[in-house]
Amino acid sequence: MVDMTLQVHQFPCLSDNYGFLLHDPDSGETACIDTPDGDEYLKQAKAKGWRITQIWNTHWHPDHAGGNEAIKAATGCTIVAPAGDAEKIAGIDRQLRDGDVATLGAHEARVIDVGGHTLGHIAYHLPDSGIAFVGDSVFALGCGRMFEGTAPQFWESLTRIKQLPDDTTLYCAHEYTKANAKFALHADPHNETLQAYAEEIERKRAAGKPTVPFPLGRELGTNPFLRADDPAMQARWGGGTPPETFAALRAAKDNF
Ligand code: ZN
Ligand code: FE
Repeated sequence: MVDMTLQVHQFPCLSDNYGFLLHDPDSGETACIDTPDGDEYLKQAKAKGWRITQIWNTHWHPDHAGGNEAIKAATGCTIVAPAGDAEKIAGIDRQLRDGDVATLGAHEARVIDVGGHTLGHIAYHLPDSGIAFVGDSVFALGCGRMFEGTAPQFWESLTRIKQLPDDTTLYCAHEYTKANAKFALHADPHNETLQAYAEEIERKRAAGKPTVPFPLGRELGTNPFLRADDPAMQARWGGGTPPETFAALRAAKDNF
């Protein structure tokens, strides 16, 4: 039984981030998913009439944790954040590791280690709501740059996301989809599902609509980085193991 009571308020932030406020009407709690811009989050919460009680950080980058101190000062909220990035994140009350649980009222988010973009990057999966906040680990048709981790680590992280239920709705932190689609079509030129998806993205962006969130199931057949274990992708991009094929794809995207 899917629990529909949680509300997600999504809004553009900075140049290409999305901000998310996660609200539980039963308890009155509201969590900021990352804090790209403290003032914008406070403004959005006020407009919704929601009181911010928590911050859930995915990783340390300033467009994800830069608003922590301003929001905590204004609201007295508690901050949970990845243990692996903790020394670079302000104001943490509780450090989270793979398998830990964060709670919003009676709702539980399971923490998944998705290190690779940063070493400590985590995602928050809310199984009862069928949603996950994945930060800069997976994007629609893409994945985060590998700034800190290794290809085997990043591939392990993507494998954990691949194992979530297909109908999980993924909320990533950036509107990068149009550029990602260009590379995906280059990486996987004969994929008809991908071609149809890319056309839909064009239409949405031309109409000023977000491409986030998106279902995991569609990514499994179209996102080149999630398909580094697919024999067709291995044949095209080389690599005897999925991490090697992933590394080849990631390097090609960096220079695309
Ligand atoms: Zn980042
Ligand atoms: Fe980011």
